[in-house]
Amino acid sequence: MEKRNERQVILFPLPLQGCINPILQLAKILFSRGFSITIIHTRFNAPESSNHPLFTFLQIPDGLSETETQSRDVLLQLTLLNNNCENPFRECLAKLIKPNSDSGTEEGRISCLIDDSGWVFTQDVAESFSLPRFVLCAYKFSFFLGHLLVPQLRREGFLPFPDSEAEDLVPVFPPLRKKDLSRIMGTTAQSEPLDSYLHKILETTKPASGLIVMSCEELDQDSLATSNKVFTFPIFPIGPSHIHDVPASSSSLFEPDQSCIPWLDKHETRSVIYVSLGSIVTLSESEFLEIACGLRNTNQSFLWVVRPGSVHGKDWIESLPLGFMESLEGKGKIVRWAPQLDVLAHKATGGFLTHNGWNSTLESICEGVPMICLPFVWDQLLNARFITDVWRIGIHLEGRIERREIERAVIRLMAELEGEEIQERIQVLKDEDLCIIWIESFNGEE
Ligand code: UDP
Repeated sequence: MEKRNERQVILFPLPLQGCINPILQLAKILFSRGFSITIIHTRFNAPESSNHPLFTFLQIPDGLSETETQSRDVLLQLTLLNNNCENPFRECLAKLIKPNSDSGTEEGRISCLIDDSGWVFTQDVAESFSLPRFVLCAYKFSFFLGHLLVPQLRREGFLPFPDSEAEDLVPVFPPLRKKDLSRIMGTTAQSEPLDSYLHKILETTKPASGLIVMSCEELDQDSLATSNKVFTFPIFPIGPSHIHDVPASSSSLFEPDQSCIPWLDKHETRSVIYVSLGSIVTLSESEFLEIACGLRNTNQSFLWVVRPGSVHGKDWIESLPLGFMESLEGKGKIVRWAPQLDVLAHKATGGFLTHNGWNSTLESICEGVPMICLPFVWDQLLNARFITDVWRIGIHLEGRIERREIERAVIRLMAELEGEEIQERIQVLKDEDLCIIWIESFNGEE
């Protein structure tokens, strides 16, 4: 480990798994370059501090009720968190910045705050302390730029589209199709709060000192090249954060089931399809059963993550038909949460049926695992289009959660020539140098 440089960086993740993972990974990279690390976090979805003994963790109250923490409405949760956390965050930062305070500056001078674009009050707070703020973009960068246009498109009457199932491309947001953007925008009832939130994100990102992007030229060439039309500050593409050479430690909100690995050890190379829909997506009972039957009918081995509570109205997998697991004869394993990076890196894993969250997508590319795309919301829809229409490293289910579609897609990917060609293409993308280390020149100051 390098010598401490007497500079401290404060990080403040949004309390979502897809935001916590990259920000903690970034913290590890900065720590390995000599920075001291302080993580300010909410009580809701608090990261496990004991997994990172070298960082300082400071929890602030977030005011969410038990019901609100369990809500499936992420926009509502983010709005409440932004309303509730400003004062506690300001107080916490004041204690860190004020000399001679308890938790004070003995760790070194504070270089900057790094947080997520979804925190819309932190720019003002950082400015009031004259602290440079860098924004971490946990999306594919083209999604980040594109989604900020949605309120304007709606104001100018381009949205909503007359046909919400139209297959043609959205000219300002390629390769997204009109039907994808209609899903991203949600229902009309959600449009006002969504637009107002996106507007705030744009307005509070513009005055920041820079944007740290989990992407690189190979994956985001066009948007990185045109970003200076929107932002005047420097943009730092760091590539997929998890491939930087820093010590591994878990930032999982759930306990990964380690029995996945010995189970995979018993399987042949590229013979298992891994199925996971990330940390937020939920399914109706009938969708869950269609996936279950589709997987069983493939006769391929599968490892499936079903988060407790992710099937509407059910605790876990109790709605599977009686005798379902026995009928698989050991070919299927269902877990509550998996050590995903290790699963994707395992030689037995030959395909990934995914919701295409950006972290999962990057992790799959970096391990050369071809995908079956089942995006549900938000950036997942754009990521899936890049996978299938641009890089051609996966098969799109087009939202059809039906057993025959799932069975057919798995067989095409795992057992047919099409799958072999996809495998060759993802190998080429994997072998590109996706890891950019800009940290050498970063000192956290404007
Ligand atoms: N993940 C995991 N185990 C699982 C499922 C997911 O460790 O069983 C991790 C995965 O490696 C990724 C993150 O959770 O880093 C999910 O982030 P992503 O952006 O893919 O999706 P989100 O959860 O934000 O929808």
